[in-house]
Amino acid sequence: MNWQSIGDRCVDYLRDESRLSGHCDTIFFPENTQALQQALADCVRAGIPVTVQGGRTGIAAAGIPSGGRLICVEKMSGCQLQGSVLTVQCGTRLSEIQAAARQAGLVFPPNPTESGATIAGAVACAASGPNCLYYGDVPSHVLAMDALLPDGQRWTLKRGQYLFDDSGCPLPDGRHLALSAPLPKRGEPRWGFAPYQGMDLLDLFCGSEGTLAVLDCLRLQLTAAPAQTWCLLFFFSDWRQSLRFSQEVCRLHWQEVRITTVEFLDQATLALIRELRASSSALGALPDLPEAPGATVLVELESDDPAPPQDALLACLSAFASHGGVESDTWAASTPPEIARLHLLRHAAAEAVNTRLDLCRLELPELSKLCGAFQIPVSELIPAVQTYQDDIKRTGISGAIFGHASIGRLHVNLLPETVQQLQTGQSLLERWARYSAELGGRALSENGIGKLHRAQLAQSAPAGQLSAMAEIKAFFDPRHLLGPDTLLP
Ligand SMILES: Cc1cc2nc3c(=O)[nH]c(=O)nc-3n(C[C@H](O)[C@H](O)[C@H](O)COP(=O)(O)OP(=O)(O)OC[C@H]3O[C@@H](n4cnc5c(N)ncnc54)[C@H](O)[C@@H]3O)c2cc1C
Repeated sequence: MNWQSIGDRCVDYLRDESRLSGHCDTIFFPENTQALQQALADCVRAGIPVTVQGGRTGIAAAGIPSGGRLICVEKMSGCQLQGSVLTVQCGTRLSEIQAAARQAGLVFPPNPTESGATIAGAVACAASGPNCLYYGDVPSHVLAMDALLPDGQRWTLKRGQYLFDDSGCPLPDGRHLALSAPLPKRGEPRWGFAPYQGMDLLDLFCGSEGTLAVLDCLRLQLTAAPAQTWCLLFFFSDWRQSLRFSQEVCRLHWQEVRITTVEFLDQATLALIRELRASSSALGALPDLPEAPGATVLVELESDDPAPPQDALLACLSAFASHGGVESDTWAASTPPEIARLHLLRHAAAEAVNTRLDLCRLELPELSKLCGAFQIPVSELIPAVQTYQDDIKRTGISGAIFGHASIGRLHVNLLPETVQQLQTGQSLLERWARYSAELGGRALSENGIGKLHRAQLAQSAPAGQLSAMAEIKAFFDPRHLLGPDTLLP
């Protein structure tokens, strides 16, 4: 096994987009399943903790090591298409998957916007993108996977084969995973990899952030590309109107046209993007943003009919007008290059926050990313955003809010500039986590828990779900060797 010393050459593998740094001495880059399996077996036999890593685009520090060894799967890349099913190796980047799909007139619909992410990383974090309203998260497009377990077994799991009931799940090796607390019902708020009744065993490994098994090959369901896609941006002077508009657009319905995306970006996010645009050549293609809009909403429509979806476009414009918008404050795109330009805006939201954080860290390296993904009922979005903004104003910490208005899931980012603000920001995130639960929602609903949000998980998840996760971890990885310091308290 060619374990390399991290040295200076591999130091970048100790960091990810959380802007935190991990530590370990050795790294291995498997190029095939056999090498991956062997590397895992070596670590388990020697009792050495091991972190598996994909593209390092995670923002919760799940993929950076906390001692032990590091396995990076970035060289395990490749895909094979059969009909509309794409078999991919775990380290295949989302950009490669989209390219392979496009060549066949197909798409891999979920789009967590960061195309440098690997498929295993996206599955392990249960990533989802702006179009989650219609297409759900990445795992829901996984038909089958090969999971390498710490005990040396290799399971091929097909969706629908093994399902949890109220007390556990049958397993491919004939055993039964028995859990002591009754499981929540489908649709109830769920934290981490805690199972619910009727959940597929395959989905246990999706979202477990590399703490239960290492994912090898995956089979993905691709979808026919729509005949028409329209990406629309609506700029509002008042953010409350933008959220009312979002709710109205989500209620619109047509036979042929589907709304896949309704994303909200607040004024502060737009200001950060404008700042980033001034210094980034990659964002040069983005059209000039209007001066000081209060918020913007990005709506995406798809249709299988080749004719432009006139009725749907007019209905969106009319909803915009009824919430105070004027037509000149809209941007529309319907060709792939134009749409890609507008997608830059949504993608730039997370990048702009990170770039600002990097600047602050030049002055004070101990500053870290503070971000919560709070899922609440859509009807509570306006009071919730008001609460976040009031708290942000009161504490004087800069903040930026954006995300999936369509399903009530917003990312609230804080940009502390002092250690005192960092501590205040951490307590704000805890407060908002409790507030989301009071509203019937949950915190930590996207991007993983990783190392950054473990304490928050311990505080906000129901005791039954925490104990189910602990029992499952003890079952699959009794010596806690996989993903040390990630996810579980
Ligand atoms: C600008 C930007 C925008 C983003 N936008 C979104 C977004 O819209 N939605 C969203 O959900 N996320 C988003 N993210 C976060 C990130 O892209 C996703 O979490 C992504 O899925 C991580 O994939 P990765 O390959 O980089 O994984 P890594 O960061 O390398 O690792 C993430 C986790 O996956 C595990 N993992 C990796 N490979 C394996 C394997 N073979 N087996 C088991 N576990 C494995 C790791 O152990 C770790 O726990 C964004 C990030 C950035 C920087």
